[in-house]
Amino acid sequence: MAKCPICKAAETAAKFRPFCSKRCADVDLHRWMGGQYAVPAVEPPDDFDAEIETALAEQDRPDELH
Ligand SMILES: [Zn+2]
Repeated sequence: MAKCPICKAAETAAKFRPFCSKRCADVDLHRWMGGQYAVPAVEPPDDFDAEIETALAEQDRPDELH
């Protein structure tokens, strides 16, 4: 069987082809939408969306700390 192109470890599951799981399918979707997020290949954190929100919040913050 083919290997999942995201984690390159688990085998493709018919239900989530060509990925092994919904998690890996979601990772691929985020890559397409986000373009250049450095998503850990094997185990994306459960708070992935929270990290994006944090990054956006930091961009909005004025440069008070400098
Ligand atoms: Zn996978």
